[in-house]
Amino acid sequence: MRGVIRSRSSVVGSGRGSRRKTEHREPKTATPWSRLVAAARHARTHAYAPYSGFAVGAALLARDGTIWSGANVENSSFGLTICAERSAVVAAVAAGRRNFRALALVAGRGEPASPCGACRQVLHEFAPRLPIRMVSADGNVRDVTLAELLPLGFAHEDLERGR
Ligand SMILES: [Zn+2]
Repeated sequence: MRGVIRSRSSVVGSGRGSRRKTEHREPKTATPWSRLVAAARHARTHAYAPYSGFAVGAALLARDGTIWSGANVENSSFGLTICAERSAVVAAVAAGRRNFRALALVAGRGEPASPCGACRQVLHEFAPRLPIRMVSADGNVRDVTLAELLPLGFAHEDLERGR
């Protein structure tokens, strides 16, 4: 965790170049993106989205190689709806996984959809520099990192400083 914190401050301080550098410290084994995207695509078929009609599937790769998928689950009380990314995180953490290597997200058409602000913050709790592959249902792909999507996420260190 200490290493993650150091990398985080270098990302904040020195911009894009150092961000690339820190990514190279990720595990050397290649991310099985096709397997991960397939899992997200499959999870999307289980989405419960009768109100928005916007089905989303997510698949989170844990450091031990296991894949945890999630789908959005809407509710007639709209505020209770949970996104696919957060449902994947919750499933993984409930099964004892807290270290993550990558996330695949499948939703929409055309430009791939990106995680909402709430999901960015929840992912940041466990993997502030998580590589994310966003894929549209019609096959467009965009790769980003969570550090790009949420450069100054709130973290437990911030909480400590407030005490
Ligand atoms: Zn979300």
